[in-house]
Amino acid sequence: MPSPNETETASTSAAPTVASAAPEPVRRREDIDPRSSSRDRSWPPEPEPLPFPVIDNHCHLDFADGEQHLTVGEHVRRAARAGVDGQITIGSDLEAVRWTAALLADPACPPSLVGGVAIHPNEAALHARGTDHDGRPLVDLDAALAEVAELLRGPRMVVVGETGLDWFRTSRKDERARAAQIDAFRAHIALAKELDLPLQIHDRDAHRDVLEILEADGAPERTVFHCFSGDAEFARACADRGWYLSFAGTVTFKNSVPLREALAQVGLDRVMVETDAPFLTPVPYRGRPNSSYLIPLTMATIAEVTGTELTEACRRVRATTESVYGALWTAAA
Ligand SMILES: [Zn+2]
Ligand SMILES: [Zn+2]
Repeated sequence: MPSPNETETASTSAAPTVASAAPEPVRRREDIDPRSSSRDRSWPPEPEPLPFPVIDNHCHLDFADGEQHLTVGEHVRRAARAGVDGQITIGSDLEAVRWTAALLADPACPPSLVGGVAIHPNEAALHARGTDHDGRPLVDLDAALAEVAELLRGPRMVVVGETGLDWFRTSRKDERARAAQIDAFRAHIALAKELDLPLQIHDRDAHRDVLEILEADGAPERTVFHCFSGDAEFARACADRGWYLSFAGTVTFKNSVPLREALAQVGLDRVMVETDAPFLTPVPYRGRPNSSYLIPLTMATIAEVTGTELTEACRRVRATTESVYGALWTAAA
């Protein structure tokens, strides 16, 4: 017999029982990626649950995606059914930063949900320019960083991120944008150390520069590469420095051979798992909406590539996550 609670969760249209006061998501995925409106926007089926629960190290609950809108509570319930019993939601532009802080401060927010905020490198470039993608005015970078610093002191903020360098979407040749990204990255490194929080790094086509800045300024004690995208050599360089690698659905992609070689290089005591949802949906659902409940697909690849039995892989990835953030989720259970 299902409990009354289970009956209710069986229907996605049921009123949420948790986080009912959560604000509406800041934006839809189509707002930043208009091409994505032509893709299959149906939610992938729920996979076989994991034999041992893990944590989604990085997702964006402020983004709405999919044919049907899932509430924060529904994302959390589906994740729990899949063996993902905690999530770290990341607010990475000023609107999302405020949204995330409000969600985490809401007494109705599920206890398994914690978060982090920062000004994403591509957003740092926009603050330096003074306007967003639609030409609307933005506060200057210092003001944005000051707000991040203040909100990181709020309830259930466990990480500074995502910050770093993105030489893919912001051209290396754009001097002002480049300087803004570097300034923001350094400010976030300092903030993580000041607040004694881990740092989540966004590194896109910028491995060498990210490493140089971390070495020059001194990396925070707990430094995590979210959606790790380097090769085996860079993975080893990170692991040798005591940093952590968080793998997203990209590790399941057919063409991600170097990424799987990178994963095979490092011990699971350096490895975490994440979705970066609603983006980077793992194979075989690439392009469809992503949510923490799809982590089992990525975990299966992590187990296979590292030659580890799945239960053991989950145990070790969870232990790594708890060594970075503390036993937050075990305590919440
Ligand atoms: Zn990122
Ligand atoms: Zn992200």
